[in-house]
Amino acid sequence: MDEEPGAGCPPPPMARPAPGTTNGHYDRGVPDCSFCGIAAGGIPATIVLDGKRIIAFRDLNPQAPTHVLVVPRDHFPNVAELAAAGGGLLDEVVAAAREVAAADGIEASGYRIVFNTGQDGGQTVGHVHAHVLGGRSMAWPPG
Ligand code: 5GP
Ligand code: ZN
Repeated sequence: MDEEPGAGCPPPPMARPAPGTTNGHYDRGVPDCSFCGIAAGGIPATIVLDGKRIIAFRDLNPQAPTHVLVVPRDHFPNVAELAAAGGGLLDEVVAAAREVAAADGIEASGYRIVFNTGQDGGQTVGHVHAHVLGGRSMAWPPG
């Protein structure tokens, strides 16, 4: 009888996620991360959406009549890491951005979703967040 496929092959090496992480995301809040602090309720914010895996709150320094940050509760450093982790969380962020736009009455007029990524991308907070901007006409190209 033929051998089973894979018989005799050594088992694959155990994946070793970084300490404190599962599939690239941090299981616990990251110390000194302000958005982990907001997600945990320890830092105040004007929350507009409070979901199981996602929160959204108004930006401290708004750049448009609607300027909301949509944030996964779990800590991912940027949108590329969030996408790489899979699990549908990036889809949820975008769906939440649409909910925020609808709640602020700007879904029909339009809005911009921005993920600043890295230094040249203008990212200043290392916990992934989607900016949802609207309520005025947006310029292009951005500065
Ligand atoms: P980034 O520059 O990383 O794309 O965006 C960070 C955004 O977070 C900025 O627009 C900034 O105003 C906002 N921000 C930074 N810290 C806080 C905070 O503690 N609370 C709120 N609500 N917004 C914050
Ligand atoms: Zn964080």
